[in-house]
Amino acid sequence: MARFENKTVIITGGAGGIGLAAGKLFAREGANVMLVDLTEDALQSAAKVIDGGDRVTYQLADVSKPEQVQGYVAATLKRFGSIDYFLNNAGVEGVVAPIVDSPIDAFDQVMAVNIKGVWLGLKYVIPAMLDIGGGSIVITSSMAGLKGTPNISPYITSKHAVVGMMRSVSQEYATQGIRINTVNPAPIETRMMRSLESGFAPGQEEAAKTQLSQMMPMGRYGEPEEVANLMAFLCSDEASFCSGGVYSVDGGGSAM
Ligand code: NAD
Repeated sequence: MARFENKTVIITGGAGGIGLAAGKLFAREGANVMLVDLTEDALQSAAKVIDGGDRVTYQLADVSKPEQVQGYVAATLKRFGSIDYFLNNAGVEGVVAPIVDSPIDAFDQVMAVNIKGVWLGLKYVIPAMLDIGGGSIVITSSMAGLKGTPNISPYITSKHAVVGMMRSVSQEYATQGIRINTVNPAPIETRMMRSLESGFAPGQEEAAKTQLSQMMPMGRYGEPEEVANLMAFLCSDEASFCSGGVYSVDGGGSAM
């Protein structure tokens, strides 16, 4: 039997690189999948690519807006009846610049999506999990949540913040069947890295990619599927004693 038969997962940032890879994997494992993202076109094509028939649907929402977070939780409960897993994954990279040149509105946006959006997701999904006796939540932090990197201070700050959030909230619900962990990827082949490469080295994106890859012990970026595999493990019963943890998927990056 597939691992997630009769289970329901919400994936924020579900039309993006990592979210879509997770959607495919969870659908293949039998789950009902609710994708959450900002634009209808992207969500529609993600749902089509996942190809899970009526087990896959989507809800438009900006994760930084409380009423829209309540909206995706309500839509999931209406459609599938319960929420077993939550991939609290939507994120933005912000602007690449030293702090003195960083635009304040870009800082605010990174904090709104990457911190407030994750916090609101926990706030409104957890009650639905308590109703069914538990669940598993995976927050997408980053290697940037464990180490500093120059010129992306808002992003680094936000990814450190959600590690602290996870460590705190996981203790609040540990005896009530809810497990909460972070995954911490290093560079992964998605749109976000294309944007960061062009921010770090405008016009020399390929060279930036080569340089970043060579900095990693494995000498390469990861694939979104490699992150999705870890998310699925953390949601599965095989991870029954895993909560409050920081799980790197980074080709050895955090060992440096
Ligand atoms: P991506 O840009 O492909 O996907 C991010 C998705 O989040 C997009 O579809 C975007 O529309 C969505 N999103 C952004 N703001 C939103 C909002 N306010 N409400 C709802 N959805 C919103 O990038 P990705 O690599 O798939 O990123 C997924 C997560 O992984 C992010 O949290 C990112 O910070 C994290 N991460 C990525 C990497 C990497 O190298 N790609 C490494 C470490 C961590």
